[in-house]
Amino acid sequence: MSEQLLIIAGPCSVESKSQIEEIYSEIENEIDIFRGGAYKPRTSVHSFQGLGTEGLQILEETSEKPVASEIMDTRDIEYFKNIEYVQIGARNMQNFSLLRAVGEAGYKVILKRGLSSTIEEFKAASEYLIHYGAKEVILCERGIRTISDSSRFTIDFAGVLKLQAETNMKVIVDVSHPAGNTEMISSLARAAVALGADGVMIEVHNDPCNALSDADQQIKPQQFLKITKELRSLDEYIRKLEK
Ligand code: PEP
Ligand code: MN
Repeated sequence: MSEQLLIIAGPCSVESKSQIEEIYSEIENEIDIFRGGAYKPRTSVHSFQGLGTEGLQILEETSEKPVASEIMDTRDIEYFKNIEYVQIGARNMQNFSLLRAVGEAGYKVILKRGLSSTIEEFKAASEYLIHYGAKEVILCERGIRTISDSSRFTIDFAGVLKLQAETNMKVIVDVSHPAGNTEMISSLARAAVALGADGVMIEVHNDPCNALSDADQQIKPQQFLKITKELRSLDEYIRKLEK
């Protein structure tokens, strides 16, 4: 367990300057890292693909907190030099040339677990980053594909414990992508904190119904503020138990 619960939140995608300003101003006091996707890995080529460099610029200009955003292509490396945490998404966890390039740039990284990757493969991917020079790596469990159809992806809670036991990296849980809906977010986040995860990632949108990506799972800032309050007190309680 790290000294303090890490809370990462923001919209799935950066859609406009006003959207980012609105979300950021409502949640800034409760977050450690502000997230937003400018390059989006979408299953369909017809879906919103992100604003690219313009999106990164909006994040940089708006946020006074450290920012996290996903990189998908080695050709974009230099655009991320002012982004504090470069995210490598689930679909690129084993994109070894991307891991190498991001490592060589000396970036801090949030590495997400691949949809169907084992813990050993996840650890091996993180070693690429470290080997090539990444300054810091945060591991993010974001749910894997299993036989269970109770949610979009299944959170491997035991995997979080295993990663914490076997690495010296922070291990956080993205509760939004596995949930795939808004109803489960608060309980899954509580479960992650009760487990002793080093942090949580939650997608927050000012107008979830009209979001350009992941509309079903994004929560409103007000809901997020209520959840973080609960999470911080739960975290305090868990820490007392572990003393
Ligand atoms: C995201 O965080 O926006 C994202 C696309 O996540 P994942 O790579 O876990 O699907
Ligand atoms: Mn998303």
